[in-house]
Amino acid sequence: MTERTFSIIKPDATKRNLTGAINAVIEGAGLRIVAQRRIRMTEDQAKKFYEVHAARPFYGELVETMTSAPVVVQVLEGDNAMAKYREVMGATNPEQAAEGTIRKLFALNVGENSVHGSDSLENAKIEIAQFFTDADIVG
Ligand code: GDP
Repeated sequence: MTERTFSIIKPDATKRNLTGAINAVIEGAGLRIVAQRRIRMTEDQAKKFYEVHAARPFYGELVETMTSAPVVVQVLEGDNAMAKYREVMGATNPEQAAEGTIRKLFALNVGENSVHGSDSLENAKIEIAQFFTDADIVG
């Protein structure tokens, strides 16, 4: 079934000029980038986005990292897009990520792991709505 999921190319990747290289992996996996914008995330946006992790010890560091440089927010579309992108991203900790995944190829460490992808269709909807309107998404 055709689905949409939400993606972020994180600051560690934009700083190293990896947007195009990461997009090539995304497109190579058969996912279509149907919306994309480069933004500087505000502290409020990052706090809200990672609200579920508010009690975790790395929350402050996470918010700081996400606001430290521009990010590229994206909507990806394709068959089984949510699960497929999770697979293409690889494990949260790049040391555990499979060969050929974005995090294996590009991530520096668990805190600077190059990409975000929604972990459920319900969250994908919520996350897309935080950064895009329907008119921004051209499938
Ligand atoms: P994801 O869905 O694979 O991105 O992983 P999670 O939802 O578990 O965590 C969200 C994000 O928090 C991760 O992508 C990391 O950037 C960050 N994070 C998770 N665990 C750690 C940790 O132990 N240390 C630090 N510094 N960041 C972490």
